[in-house]
Amino acid sequence: DPKVTIIDGKTVAQTIRSEIAAEVSRLSQTYGKVPGLAVVIVGQRKDSQSYVNMKRKACAEVGIKSLDFDLPENVSESDLIFKVHELNANPDVHGILVQLPLPKHINEEKILTEISLEKDVDGFHPLNIGKLAMKGRDPLFVPCTPKGCIELLTRHGITIKGKNAVVVGRSNIVGLPVSLLLLKEDATVTIVHSRTKEPESIIRNADIIIAAAGQPAMIKGSWIKPGAAVIDVGTNAVDDPSKKSGYRLVGDVDFQEACKTAGCITPVPGGAGPMTVAMLLKNTLDGAKRVIEC
Ligand code: NDP
Repeated sequence: DPKVTIIDGKTVAQTIRSEIAAEVSRLSQTYGKVPGLAVVIVGQRKDSQSYVNMKRKACAEVGIKSLDFDLPENVSESDLIFKVHELNANPDVHGILVQLPLPKHINEEKILTEISLEKDVDGFHPLNIGKLAMKGRDPLFVPCTPKGCIELLTRHGITIKGKNAVVVGRSNIVGLPVSLLLLKEDATVTIVHSRTKEPESIIRNADIIIAAAGQPAMIKGSWIKPGAAVIDVGTNAVDDPSKKSGYRLVGDVDFQEACKTAGCITPVPGGAGPMTVAMLLKNTLDGAKRVIEC
């Protein structure tokens, strides 16, 4: 359909990364200091390692110093907390990222709560999420994927205020915080989850759809209101024997069909994904500026 706009997250993310690189270089020239991001990974999960490598590489490209900590799978909870405290106290570290999920013997919530609020660049500290949920309060950091979704909408000139927004999914890392952000932006927000009855009838009313259910192509083209803006966060591997890897990535939205109805839509991959890393860099820069420029 010639009317649909494909939202190119890769290009927007690249623009943001250039903006960040310029700011980092200005900080470096003015104060002789660069932002530092501590990236902590526990264990050998392949997916986590590839996310962490992407984040470290992205830091290097914009001049952010990444401090890498690769801890063994069997690290104790108290040793991990000790590491977090050490990083909280390290003045060269402006952001701390502990890659999730953590091994089962470690209490994730406990670790996230130990990260200094001022260095919580993932925005997962309960106090930052709490402030995100409260009227008239502002968190120090907003979670990266949700922030990337809003950034994609605003940079494409899509008005959020007064719109019907439907978020599919309510996880702590995507669905819930993106719902809270949309509410802060004055949308009327409905959250669809696994127990929702007749999700299609709710999604049909949406001017803005944020899909984060982790269910390949669950949102059909016929569920989409003509002209709606669709941000597809879902990143699902489905078998594809024609690919060398044996799989390909698809979103939560049936992309081909949705293109016939939507006003604009993000592809998977190349939509919300690249924005997540760009927002992590942005959060790290913002955290560093609060310290370096004060
Ligand atoms: P979770 O599995 O933690 O949460 C999924 C949410 O979707 C839950 O709230 C669940 O409901 C809901 N859900 C599941 N099935 C259905 C259904 N059939 N209908 C309606 N709602 C449903 O996933 P995440 O939030 O961590 O991730 C969601 C997707 O986004 C995944 O595909 C993930 O790979 C991707 N992702 C992409 C990122 C990126 O950078 N691009 C970053 C993070 C995630 P309930 O609460 O009732 O169980």
